[in-house]
Amino acid sequence: MDTIEIGTTTVTETEIEGVKEYAWDDTHIYQIGIESFPGHITNTYLIMDGEVNLFDTGLGGKKALKELERGLEIISTHFRQKVKLEDISGIIISHGHADHWGLLSHPELKGKKVYIHELDSETLVDFQKRLTGAKERIKNFVNQAGWDLEMDNIFSLDKLQVRIADYELVKLTNGQKIIADYEVYHVPGHSPGSILLKIGPVLFLGDLILSETTPHQLPGSLIEGCGLRLYLNSLKKAASFGNLLGLPAHEEIIYSIKDRADEITVFHYHRLLDILDLCATEKNLFQITDEYYQLRSEYINGKTIAELTRDDQILALEEIRAHLDYLIEDGKVIMTETDNGVLKYHAQ
Ligand SMILES: [Zn+2]
Repeated sequence: MDTIEIGTTTVTETEIEGVKEYAWDDTHIYQIGIESFPGHITNTYLIMDGEVNLFDTGLGGKKALKELERGLEIISTHFRQKVKLEDISGIIISHGHADHWGLLSHPELKGKKVYIHELDSETLVDFQKRLTGAKERIKNFVNQAGWDLEMDNIFSLDKLQVRIADYELVKLTNGQKIIADYEVYHVPGHSPGSILLKIGPVLFLGDLILSETTPHQLPGSLIEGCGLRLYLNSLKKAASFGNLLGLPAHEEIIYSIKDRADEITVFHYHRLLDILDLCATEKNLFQITDEYYQLRSEYINGKTIAELTRDDQILALEEIRAHLDYLIEDGKVIMTETDNGVLKYHAQ
């Protein structure tokens, strides 16, 4: 058992069979990893303080449910906090991406309260409609990027759907308090309705701040409420809470939110400068993305864009376009449209 001092509170950290406990006073929080995609773990957190609530669910079918139930079993037997799936009263969702709520598509969790920010709540209400709309926008976006990509079966989540009527949906807003005075803060950027949740000395980070990866940037020109500028402002907001223990939705816990927020901010400023350099001559988004990742191939494991999966190629385009949007807003880059609809960028 380790102890972590947060202000005047001592938080104990204990790990048994892959489940981590963070505890102080009468509050026990358990981190349970659920494999959402092969190799992609979502950290879900069971919050026990008289009530039992879950923060994020992970994506997936029976296997994901089994992983959650295995976590509850370890908590019951090794941590001696008896808990079953039926004891969970509410599920709080950090943001509308499917690896954070997909397990709601399974009937085992129905009847519970589901808390999600109002701007991401539509994703739960009619996911397939949203997915169809998003795919159309992405096709158009890729055409404008000057890339001839095969666009069938992108982001294969075609069977995923939540029967929202099975749940009691609670739409969240900034500054709201829920359950036992848990504080909700709106931090748009990674998604329009991303939230932080503050409980005593801990801050649930969702995908705003991760320990290793810099979270994916979606261009605000593609999805309103996303974008690098909003995201960087949200990082500042997270850092402004002072010394709290950061519990992210992927990867490892974060002992200094401010230090990690600063690292990620500096990373994006470097990326902006690299991209501005690449815009010295006029190029389309595909060319800029390709050249950027040749220059910085360490960020895609030494690969080239051509070697990525098609979905990852789209993510790479989105990431670079999010930075171009920022430079365009600042008047540093000019965007022009060519006759065939492809957008080109050059530095001012
Ligand atoms: Zn995620």
